[in-house]
Amino acid sequence: MVSRVIPVDSFDLVIFGGTGDLARRKILPGLFRRFRAGQMSAESRIIGAARSEMDADGYRAFVREAVAEFDPDSEGDAEHLERFLARLDYVTLDAKGEEGWTDLAGLLRAGVVRAFYFSVGPALFGALAERLHAHEIASPDCRIVVEKPFGRDLESARALNRTLAQHFEETQIYRIDHYLGKETVQNLMAIRFGNMLFEPLWNSQYVDHIQITVAEEVGVGGRGEYYDRSGAMRDMLQNHMMQLLCLIAMEPPAKFAPDPVRDEKLKVIRALDPVAREDVVRGQYEGTRDQNSYRIEVGNRDSLTESFVAIRARISNWRWAGTPFYLRTGKRLRDRASEIAVVFKDAPHSIFGAKAGHHRNILTIKLQPNEGIELGVTIKEPGPGGMRLVDVPLDMTFADALGPEEADFPDAYERLIMDVIRGNQTLFMRGDEVEAAWGWVDPIIADWTEAGEAPLPYATGSSGPDDALMLMHRDGRRWREIRA
Ligand code: NAP
Repeated sequence: MVSRVIPVDSFDLVIFGGTGDLARRKILPGLFRRFRAGQMSAESRIIGAARSEMDADGYRAFVREAVAEFDPDSEGDAEHLERFLARLDYVTLDAKGEEGWTDLAGLLRAGVVRAFYFSVGPALFGALAERLHAHEIASPDCRIVVEKPFGRDLESARALNRTLAQHFEETQIYRIDHYLGKETVQNLMAIRFGNMLFEPLWNSQYVDHIQITVAEEVGVGGRGEYYDRSGAMRDMLQNHMMQLLCLIAMEPPAKFAPDPVRDEKLKVIRALDPVAREDVVRGQYEGTRDQNSYRIEVGNRDSLTESFVAIRARISNWRWAGTPFYLRTGKRLRDRASEIAVVFKDAPHSIFGAKAGHHRNILTIKLQPNEGIELGVTIKEPGPGGMRLVDVPLDMTFADALGPEEADFPDAYERLIMDVIRGNQTLFMRGDEVEAAWGWVDPIIADWTEAGEAPLPYATGSSGPDDALMLMHRDGRRWREIRA
């Protein structure tokens, strides 16, 4: 198979916060990879903007370093890198000030796609939106990309939506959730809606339960102060995990197009039951001899913020009534492993007798570290000795199934930025979706805030607090092992 790279139209992309961590680690190295792949046209331009005083050459030096650090493959590809760096420019401006905007306006071309990446804190979104209009830089068909966190509750998300709506149409706003840009997440839709095999079984009649795990091995590290204001629920569950839940649970959209897909995801969120207190477990990691506890990492003080959360969710609709969805995410867990496991029910009757044991099909969609899909099937154990059964995986790790070249697919950010340029919002969250997600999460947070309970301690390198295990045990189920 040969990779097909379809070039996008010529564009001018302005990165507000172009000197920040996200730009350095993800956006700029990602754009370089797209340039190298031949997807970005030779005339397209990227303009960094931030308060730091710098000229275009200074910015090119900054980007050169970022690419060297975060895209080690770029070494030895000097020709592409020089051509890429020549496409860069920089403007010094303060989102809240008036200087620099005329310079920015002067750099932008007419008749090409114009996109603005707001890679700054949400407190600056309003100021940027206002100035883009006041200085007549925002064209009627320009696009803006906004980052998480999109609010910290329903009220603030609504306020952000209102602010953006004063200046931009919903069709111009790209709320990024990089999980949606992951190859496997899109493959989840391909598996569900491109095959006859799974969809007829994709309901509570055949699916016992679904587990969604996003486990990290690292702690909060240097991000302690930011993280402590947010916690696992706001940082991971409200956005990334709820998006995964939506894609797993949604009805087939009539088309793979922005509104049909987002309408179906919204219906899932609206069908989620309120969560009872006994269906939520919160945890906070303890330290080891070598590693600090959460408490130490957020400034050596007691904190009621959770670094782990597990939830049993229920979707009240015809497809899913009776099939629980168990979600868990946390830091300092046993391994870095994210997956969705669709656990099918037992066969109604075993013709092989009790000795053959219990066997279940499990479809596992692995998001990291190695993206791929695995289907557990039951077969006869080879050899003589009667009908003994054994579970084996039908493994489709993309790198193995497609070959390393095909599996060298773009990182989530690269793909999503190219979608912005193409004007395709399918993999971006709509305003009402984000609000609905906060609407479900807010009462859960309010409930534990009111109770004032501290999160349960859990050991670094474990699977989280024991109560999280109990969340499933009491239903006669168990979490899958956290394993990369
Ligand atoms: P960061 O490292 O603190 O960078 C912030 C950027 O904004 C810098 O370039 C800064 O440059 C610029 N800036 C700050 N105030 C400004 C102002 N008044 N006017 C113009 N520019 C200003 O933050 P980040 O980690 O890159 O994050 C950016 C956004 O992405 C945040 O909303 C964050 O929540 C989100 N995000 C980040 C990550 C990540 O991995 N880093 C992941 C997901 C989401 P100057 O100081 O020179 O102005």
